[in-house]
Amino acid sequence: MEKTLFEKIADKEIPATLIYEDEHCIAFRDIAPAAPVHILLIPRKPLPSIESASPEDAQLLAHLMLKVGDIARQEGLVDGGFRSVINSGRDGAQTVPHLHIHILAGRPLLWPPG
Ligand code: AMP
Repeated sequence: MEKTLFEKIADKEIPATLIYEDEHCIAFRDIAPAAPVHILLIPRKPLPSIESASPEDAQLLAHLMLKVGDIARQEGLVDGGFRSVINSGRDGAQTVPHLHIHILAGRPLLWPPG
């Protein structure tokens, strides 16, 4: 199977501005930020989307959720607040078929989203 763009970033075959990595996941700055702070957190495991995760991924998903908080603290986002988003499929506006959590901050974010 051809690697996804995000697998290539995780494998350092494509450059990105990394802000965190460990054996399970990696976080880097979005190349086209939708807010002053726009970070993508991905598992190293190439899950195409959130609904493709299975019970065997439970620990990995918990790890990712905990890392959202850690990254928010590390990047100083907690006081101002931030948003975490997982897009899925066509109507969810997912463009890269590798599970990723957007972490957005640095301006008031609208709700509901467009
Ligand atoms: P989504 O639309 O939820 O699939 O999000 C994919 C995100 O990946 C978008 O916000 C893109 O701006 C971002 N993106 C695409 N290519 C790169 C790249 N080479 N480095 C960092 N972010 C990227």
